[in-house]
Amino acid sequence: MLSLENVTKVFKTGAFGGASLPAVRRASFDILPGEVTALIGESGSGKSTLGRLILRLTPVTSGKITYEGTDVSALKGKALREYYRHVQGVFQDPFSSYNPVFRADRVFATIKRSYFPEVSAADWRGRVGNSLESVGLNPVDVLDKFTHQLSGGQLQRILIARALLLDIKILVADEIISMLDASTRVDVLNLLSNLKARGLGVLFITHDLSLGNYISERTIILRRGIVVEMGATEKVFDNPQHDYTKMLLTSVPQLHKKWEPDTGVDLDETTEEDAKVLAGRYTKSELHPLARSHSRKGRRAQAAITEREAAEGLLRTDTYLRVHEEIPQLVEVEEDHLVAM
Ligand code: ADP
Ligand code: MG
Repeated sequence: MLSLENVTKVFKTGAFGGASLPAVRRASFDILPGEVTALIGESGSGKSTLGRLILRLTPVTSGKITYEGTDVSALKGKALREYYRHVQGVFQDPFSSYNPVFRADRVFATIKRSYFPEVSAADWRGRVGNSLESVGLNPVDVLDKFTHQLSGGQLQRILIARALLLDIKILVADEIISMLDASTRVDVLNLLSNLKARGLGVLFITHDLSLGNYISERTIILRRGIVVEMGATEKVFDNPQHDYTKMLLTSVPQLHKKWEPDTGVDLDETTEEDAKVLAGRYTKSELHPLARSHSRKGRRAQAAITEREAAEGLLRTDTYLRVHEEIPQLVEVEEDHLVAM
């Protein structure tokens, strides 16, 4: 288990480091195995900073992050490498994670050198192949390609495949869905569900409320670096306690509702014609596209819908929450309003 206790990150800003910006303030939460925890907040609320702190890409200013009881900030050398064997991240812009002059297979070669020097080349090829296939990629299609020859979705899945080779326990996924096209989104979401089923803990960072609701067991709402609400996703969405969460939810009417299909048709028997009818029943302003695939039964219907919408270019990001544009200014959350949940 990964735990954050009163984690604070203050960035020094200004030409001479004179000003300081508290990006994360006394955040405390756990990431549990076999669960997706959604970390939701508007742009600039400190989500990525929290992800980077967990991945030790930037040091905490105060507070503590522990993994299996060990203080992460103290890790060095071999112990740090072991930490990364279990804790990995995938980021919004997968292009930035790659060096453009290397082919995709290079990503795997570096892992082998650091973590699996004893594994034979043939065995390693097999492992890489399995891992790529488990994220829905065909090894021969991607391994000898340069970054610019692959799509964003392929690159993200390569990063996930790489993480899977490492026996990861915790995956930090920072806005990984946002830049994917419609059909890839569904693939990556399904992949995350599989990871969860395999016992991984996922921190799913998003500014998209309905996406968070769709995928997570637990939800953390972050506002200006402060955890203002946290709990079982159903509870947070159905009965938000904090004004800010209420405000977020009312700003996207309908979108946060999980889809409970009450259509009178057995979706297992849904034909493509039925799927079209179902799709027509909900306009895109009523329902997040991804929420439509919530029901496992509805997956077949979803496939048809997604195909159709992708073809018609309907699946745009305009149902996404743009909090900073849509939410009126709120009263400042006071320091002593830091919620210990
Ligand atoms: P989010 O991911 O929720 O959009 P971030 O964690 O990226 O938010 O940023 C939180 C705040 O911290 C923002 O005000 C951002 O400008 C600031 N910030 C992030 N990284 C740095 C940095 N390296 N130096 C200074 N300020 C930063
Ligand atoms: Mg971010």
